[in-house]
Amino acid sequence: MVLAEAADETMTSGGRTACSNLRQGSPRRAFGHRLPARRAVNLAAGMTREMTPEEFRRHGHAMVDWLADYMAKVDELPIVPQVEPGDIRAMLPAAAPEEPEDFEAIAADLDRVVVPGLAGWSSPGWFAWFPCSVSGPGTLGELAASGLGQQGMVWATSPAGTELENAMVDWMADLLGLPDAWKMAGPGGGVIQQTASDAAHIALVVARELARRKGASVDDCAVYLSDQANLSLEKGARIAGYRHIRLLETDRLFALRIDALEEAVEADRRAGLAPVFVSTTVGTTATTAVDPVRAAGEIARREGMWHHVDAAFAGSAMICGEFRRYQDGLELADSYSVNPYKWLPVNFDGSLFYVADRAPLIEAMTILPPYLQGSAPGSGAVNYRDWHIALGRRFRSLKLWFALRYYGAAALREKIREDVRLAGVLAERVEADERFELVVPAPFSLVCFRHVDGDGATGALAEAVNRSGHSFCSTSRLDDRLFLRIAIGQINTREQHVERLWHFIKDATPAPGMARV
Ligand code: PLP
Repeated sequence: MVLAEAADETMTSGGRTACSNLRQGSPRRAFGHRLPARRAVNLAAGMTREMTPEEFRRHGHAMVDWLADYMAKVDELPIVPQVEPGDIRAMLPAAAPEEPEDFEAIAADLDRVVVPGLAGWSSPGWFAWFPCSVSGPGTLGELAASGLGQQGMVWATSPAGTELENAMVDWMADLLGLPDAWKMAGPGGGVIQQTASDAAHIALVVARELARRKGASVDDCAVYLSDQANLSLEKGARIAGYRHIRLLETDRLFALRIDALEEAVEADRRAGLAPVFVSTTVGTTATTAVDPVRAAGEIARREGMWHHVDAAFAGSAMICGEFRRYQDGLELADSYSVNPYKWLPVNFDGSLFYVADRAPLIEAMTILPPYLQGSAPGSGAVNYRDWHIALGRRFRSLKLWFALRYYGAAALREKIREDVRLAGVLAERVEADERFELVVPAPFSLVCFRHVDGDGATGALAEAVNRSGHSFCSTSRLDDRLFLRIAIGQINTREQHVERLWHFIKDATPAPGMARV
């Protein structure tokens, strides 16, 4: 049914009609369909107002203008919100309004209520944790995805959502140099999960189900992670019911020690346990350490374990061929995740999750109650509800599609290379300065360093950076020593912003053995 017919039917299909909103006009064409000049609006039962498409257009333009202004001035806004806990809540009424409010008034409260409580994630001086990208095309993709209201739980509920996602995971598999078998035409495939935590959780559940089918109880299954694995792995393992979760020692570069993995697996076998899952990380959260993916994969194959590779942040670098050596051995992995939102200009959320074989995933995730039977026509079509935990799903591929097309892969590669170059320059300066020591070399775009005087001076420096008003960093702790993490990758960050940070650090730091910053 074309939109014009749908509107006509709405007008005549009973129910309450908002006569004031009915404006007949000469038909015009939009999106290839015949439309009346103003779409008739038939209010849902009990509703006293509707936002008509024309009103939506007007408010939408204003909202895009507002966001464009925010993007343009984000570097001038405080990077650390100048509020105390409870301040934002205190500006809000205690209860939802009974009466309708004008959209202008609602939108105006963005400035009054929301902006003061915004952290500068989009600011070019944001160097904390890992970046969380916001781009123009990504934001517009989100807008379109939201407005289109697709619920792509099965192919039939959104053929466009499903097939665009099929194409995007394949595009990304090629760009990232992933094994061909992980593409949709192979035995494996990809799906966009909400986050890397969801991806890890699912991999752990599939491994558990495979073990169960072989007769093992989850109580006897063992999981192996490095002590540098992201917390989401341990959390996922706990949620999946595992009781034997081994956090293995790492080497001096904080990468998984293969001998520790071998020993732990052997000890568990001797104790009658079933080793079922090992995870490696390409780019750990604390320092972007790289685990030995191939060696862990070989052990996983030999032991019949599921091998999940977590490349949440650093995986995006694999669009540049020179970084792929860090994920050598992927053909031995069972699953892999990468978050484009951490380093590519694609808005949160979305974690690309690939499996080498989709059968055990689908088997573990499929439940077909009567109310869903017959809802998935189209033989051979992908029904993504069977690839993750939730039933409903957002149209996440749209923002990826927009961003990949708008920038083009060549520019994205240049962005990654430039961020890595900037990190290299910063690391060299830190290394050359007697007041600092690098914690580890920087393989990607995260620089980790500390003050030689120890935690007091390091902590004071971090606080000073975060009081600077223009830059923001995070800290972490390894071997019981504090260090600064400077993660370069925010889409707006340029050389001048890294320079600004470095000059601030240089000027704010006392000589070794001198007073606090
Ligand atoms: N894995 C790694 C290596 C990470 O650095 C992070 C977050 O920084 C995660 C997983 C968790 O990501 P998400 O927030 O998408 O669950």
